[in-house]
Amino acid sequence: MRINKYIALCGVASRRKAEELILAGRIKVNDNVITELSYQVDEENDVVKVDDKVIKEENKLVYVLLNKPEGYITTVKDQFDRPSVLDLVTDIKERVYPIGRLDYETSGLLLLTNDGDLTYKLTHPKHEVDKTYMARVKGKLTESEIKMFRSGLKIEDYVTAPAKLKVVRYDEKNDVSILEIKIHEGKNRQVRKMCKAINHPVLRLKRTAMGKIRVGECEIGKYRYLTEDEVKYLK
Ligand code: URA
Repeated sequence: MRINKYIALCGVASRRKAEELILAGRIKVNDNVITELSYQVDEENDVVKVDDKVIKEENKLVYVLLNKPEGYITTVKDQFDRPSVLDLVTDIKERVYPIGRLDYETSGLLLLTNDGDLTYKLTHPKHEVDKTYMARVKGKLTESEIKMFRSGLKIEDYVTAPAKLKVVRYDEKNDVSILEIKIHEGKNRQVRKMCKAINHPVLRLKRTAMGKIRVGECEIGKYRYLTEDEVKYLK
């Protein structure tokens, strides 16, 4: 099997990222650095290492939906030692990792898998699955702000694609609005930046769905495996 495919099956990285690891000289086969992308791994006999750690084929691909609480990072570690979403899935024996990111302060639907190819597909900018967010924002939106939001906003050096926005309700007493927002892009802190750009900063943010996959009844901090139909739909 081609080496990048083998690395992806081991749950280390997507095939594309695996090629970068190979070219960076971080892969060894039987203690020799391999930089040839076309290298064929003998799965029975070769010992493959990434950064000097042996990797093994995970024959079971797993797909998990976590209802992420606020106050968790979606990377393995950070410099502040904050809790990671991986601390919430310790009883899954396969080494899963998040598909994309949610901010530390954002809650809701986060998919985790050891399928590097699916991760690559879903995080590619071309991929057009709508992500749905419920946002609690400051103030009441005017018609022109709603229009601007829907047609695309300039945030930093980037103009966002048209987004869907529904004002679910306005709470006059607290002067806050509840918005349902659907975007298919995944720029860093995009929803927060878009709301700020129309002068309605986000107070709380939750992702409720990715395409047809909904967080639904999954309790906060808990996870469930995706159904076969959900996996098929994503692939
Ligand atoms: N947009 C944000 O601002 N934050 C997230 O976590 C996801 C989308």
